[in-house]
Amino acid sequence: MRSRQRAFSAVMRLCVKCLRVGRRRRFRLAWRLQQLWRYGHLCLGSLLYNSFTNSDVVLDSLFEPIYWLVDHVTRWFGVVFVALVIVLTSSIVAIVYICLLPLILQTYPPGWICWHLAYGHWNLLMILFHYYMAITTPPGHPPQAKSNTVAVSICRKCISPKPARAHHCSICNRCVLKMDHHCPWLNNCVGHYNHRYFFSFCLFMTMGCVYCGISSWDIFREAYAAIQRLKLLEKETLQVAANQTYYQTPPPTFSFRQRAFHKSIVYLWVLCSSVALALGALTLWHAALITRGETSIERHINNKERQRLQKKGRVFRNPYSYGTWANWKVFLGVDTHRHWLTRVLLPSTHLPHGTGLSWDHPPCVTEPRTPLLAI
Ligand SMILES: [Zn+2]
Ligand SMILES: [Zn+2]
Repeated sequence: MRSRQRAFSAVMRLCVKCLRVGRRRRFRLAWRLQQLWRYGHLCLGSLLYNSFTNSDVVLDSLFEPIYWLVDHVTRWFGVVFVALVIVLTSSIVAIVYICLLPLILQTYPPGWICWHLAYGHWNLLMILFHYYMAITTPPGHPPQAKSNTVAVSICRKCISPKPARAHHCSICNRCVLKMDHHCPWLNNCVGHYNHRYFFSFCLFMTMGCVYCGISSWDIFREAYAAIQRLKLLEKETLQVAANQTYYQTPPPTFSFRQRAFHKSIVYLWVLCSSVALALGALTLWHAALITRGETSIERHINNKERQRLQKKGRVFRNPYSYGTWANWKVFLGVDTHRHWLTRVLLPSTHLPHGTGLSWDHPPCVTEPRTPLLAI
């Protein structure tokens, strides 16, 4: 009996010992897992830590895939847009040469013929030159190598110093000097070195469209009336053919050449007037910005700053504005009276004032510069 009790107590002691060891092991495993979790959490936290993180950064991060998609689509569609501009402009030029010019030469007096030939070709030359220069001229980028450039901030994307008026273009994936916007119709950024080409292209294209629209107005009305007449005739012919008991081919109303002529004129007028309206509005907007010495991006920044200072009872002054007239002279690169002809009314490849890295007082501006910050 005693031996049984001894054996039982020995077994019980063994079980308790095993339980103690198991508990100790489980505790050690849990402790190790907790340590591992803390270490992983610390690693992740140290990798993602940013003292500048706020709600904007979180929202930007959440929208990053959408931005990525839009940027890539815009980059790819840039080539399509450029091809579209070339095809549409070529079609209008072809219609003018094939349909309008022979009419002008046959019906207009010599004075009007000279005017149309001179103005039409000058306007076409200015459009082609400025479009070519706008798409092929790089807008200007901050230097990659170490330099003495005065930077106002650091680009978070390029991790490099950003000069005043420079901004990062997410489509080009580079910082652009005096960036205005990324233009899909140019498949290029509009910045310090090609801003004048972009604006001149918009201006001359609008002028060309207005010129074509006005010049072809009478012919457009005739062509439109002829198309309406043709539709009516075709309808009547179909009704007559339906009432007849025997088959009879209806007589042709207009020849293929006449139909093509009328439709081409209507296409020319509709396209030119639409572009004149849309591009004209854009040109006026940019003209207003140039008058104020601002870019499209600065317009938003300056407006915010203006409102912020207004609340404090202070007035905001744009540090890059030299006055209305001087702003235009600086933008167009006009230093002397002769430059209005050679640099504005004729194709010119002159460079803009300054390097776009620092903003010194341009030599053509005689008025004292506005203080750099608000007064
Ligand atoms: Zn950048
Ligand atoms: Zn760009």
